[in-house]
Amino acid sequence: MQQEEDTQAEWFAYRMSSRMSSQPLVYFPAVPRPDQIIGAFKQLSKRKKTAYLNLTAPCKAPTAAPAKEDYEAYIRRVWESNAIDPFTPEADWTNSRAPLGSDARAIYPVSARLNHSCTPNCVRSFDTSDPPKARLHVVRNIAAGEELTIAYAHVHSVTCTDQSTTLCGGFNNPEWGVDVCTGWSVRRQAIRDLGFECDCKACNRSDKLFRLYNARRERIAELFERLNDRSITPSMANIDALIEDHLSCANELVAWLEEEGLVGVELARAYAHARAYETMHSPSKRYRATEVQWKYLDIIQACYGKDSAAYKQAELLMAILRRRP
Ligand SMILES: [Zn+2]
Repeated sequence: MQQEEDTQAEWFAYRMSSRMSSQPLVYFPAVPRPDQIIGAFKQLSKRKKTAYLNLTAPCKAPTAAPAKEDYEAYIRRVWESNAIDPFTPEADWTNSRAPLGSDARAIYPVSARLNHSCTPNCVRSFDTSDPPKARLHVVRNIAAGEELTIAYAHVHSVTCTDQSTTLCGGFNNPEWGVDVCTGWSVRRQAIRDLGFECDCKACNRSDKLFRLYNARRERIAELFERLNDRSITPSMANIDALIEDHLSCANELVAWLEEEGLVGVELARAYAHARAYETMHSPSKRYRATEVQWKYLDIIQACYGKDSAAYKQAELLMAILRRRP
């Protein structure tokens, strides 16, 4: 277990203020026992204890002089509500950390306060330091006073071995949490499973554009489903039509995602599909695939940073595309 610098002070903006990074308040490389959580809390400085106790918990904070059991129960409830597995979509690219099922657990006090939005303006990732730092990347313009939000979801990349069955590399649908690329009813269920209701613009049923937003999201879901449909087996008989159809789906997807303001990981997923099908569709017009890959690279930079494994992999693919005769 390690504890590092604490809350607000450790957040620092990089040039362009597009990325922030923070150390965990409490970190365990393996899932802790309840007594270890209490032990770690006791070792925190007074300021860090305050930061810890200021995090949300699904119960009332104990009174001024609580019984020891109540106090410790509250500390554990805060832990349960805020501790996360600091893995990252990016880590999946390097295979350095299991994308799901990692035993590490940490509380990042500022990051823990970020609310979910179905049109998030930030992406959270974790670096490869030990313990991992949480990083927050701004993926689109943010108005003064606008809340920073993330999607409560984990999206990770398709591995190379999957490419033979899906035809296309790129990102899978989220494996956990809320897939923002779905209609309202599907999202609402996923959000309820996480224990809250979403009041973001896309979920606001009284908004006069709600039906339009919802129709777009449903179409986006349909297109991703078609692109990820593994029941279609490519064959000599269907390959041309399949490539044509999937390229058209990917291009339509890009357009709808941009309209909906889903310009982070979701758009990267769409561009990954578009690039793959451009390459297959018009091998003699490599500039088309290269153009798409430039856009993909830009988004990966915004989502994970230039120093990320994901960016380096995308950069390498770009170099390969540009070398093709
Ligand atoms: Zn929402």
